[in-house]
Amino acid sequence: MSLDLGNIRISFKCPECGFTNNATLNQVQQGQTIICSGCHANIKLIDKDAGTKRATERINQSFDELNDTINRFNRSQR
Ligand SMILES: [Zn+2]
Repeated sequence: MSLDLGNIRISFKCPECGFTNNATLNQVQQGQTIICSGCHANIKLIDKDAGTKRATERINQSFDELNDTINRFNRSQR
C-alpha cells in the first residue's frame, strides 16, 4: 500500500515576479511548464536531482513503517 502523493500540491515562488504558484508533485515530476498566475510567465518545473521522487519514496517508506506499526499494534490487541 502506498499513498498517492502525486496529487499533493506544493507552492513555489515565480522567479520573475515572486508570486506564489501551486503545482502538484506529478507536474513537477513530469517537468511540466506552468504559467505564473502573477505575471503569466512560463515556468518550467524542474525536479532537480529527482528530489520529489526521492522524497516520495521516503514518505511511502515511512508510511509502510507506520502501517507495520499499526498492524503490530492491532495484533497485540487481540
Ligand atoms: Zn510571475
